[in-house]
Amino acid sequence: MQLISGKAVSADIRQDLAAQTIEFEKKFGRVPALAVIIVGDDPASHTYVNNKIKGCAQVGFRSICQKYENGTPQEEIAAYIRSLAEDDGVDGILVQLPLPKGYDEKYLLSLIPDSKDVDGFSPTNTGLLSMNRPNTVSCTPLGVMHLLASTGVQLAGKDAVVIGRSNTVGKPMAMLLLNANCTVTVCHSKTADLASYTKKADIVVVAIGRPKFLKGDMVKEGAIVIDVGINRVDGKLVGDVDFDEVAPKCSFITPVPGGVGPMTITMLLANTLSAAKNRLS
Ligand code: NAP
Repeated sequence: MQLISGKAVSADIRQDLAAQTIEFEKKFGRVPALAVIIVGDDPASHTYVNNKIKGCAQVGFRSICQKYENGTPQEEIAAYIRSLAEDDGVDGILVQLPLPKGYDEKYLLSLIPDSKDVDGFSPTNTGLLSMNRPNTVSCTPLGVMHLLASTGVQLAGKDAVVIGRSNTVGKPMAMLLLNANCTVTVCHSKTADLASYTKKADIVVVAIGRPKFLKGDMVKEGAIVIDVGINRVDGKLVGDVDFDEVAPKCSFITPVPGGVGPMTITMLLANTLSAAKNRLS
């Protein structure tokens, strides 16, 4: 069994992004810029946003972080997003999710132009991915593809099972694997006999938010297992995979923490650089 280190893969990509940022600045006279909007005081969301801002600094991007108190009128936030949408010096706009109750997520996200949608959540970017004409792809599944690539294993022809069908993780993950010529099955909370699918899979990606859900007897020998889950149990971070049971059967497996997690922000940075290049070239 080999561990796939998201930390190591991520560090390599960030180094490359930093080098590309220097070239970008030489060519366009400024660095790429990401704007992040956060509403309310959810501690986990603030940690994610701080890490995104730190990530920008690490690769040399400019970042703007706008914090709103819960209760700020939605139209005030909407007006700010519109101003960022029109600002030529801003390449990416991200609204940290989830928003507190009472805000219309769909409406606020719809104000982000596709060209600045660095999360890859817009209907257009989602549709382009499903047509295998990807523009900006959702960061977490895109990070998983880099981790799979780092194994050197040929993906074409493999049986892949994705557990979870959220619009932001499970579905784009399935599309990326399909685009990579895997035969893809998507399982979810209504799947009957889920283990019958995972037991046959060469690749299992779990993204459900249920601690230690995937057990040793649910995977075949030699499988590649990617654990997207982030669950806090007794103050500890735990994935959706029962690592101790599953790892001995795997050819490759991601740990939690240090697997998929570090890749997500790195992909956000990569998407921001691409968005900047697409807008300015
Ligand atoms: P989500 O929107 O809550 O979706 C969860 C999905 O899991 C749903 O499709 C649900 O099925 C399915 N599901 C729930 N319980 C299940 C069960 N017992 N058996 C089979 N399927 C089940 O979650 P998400 O945003 O996709 O995130 C999933 C996990 O990934 C969470 O732990 C989240 O924290 C983590 N995450 C990590 C990163 C990272 O950077 N590492 C990024 C994003 C998310 P139904 O559709 O039938 O309800």
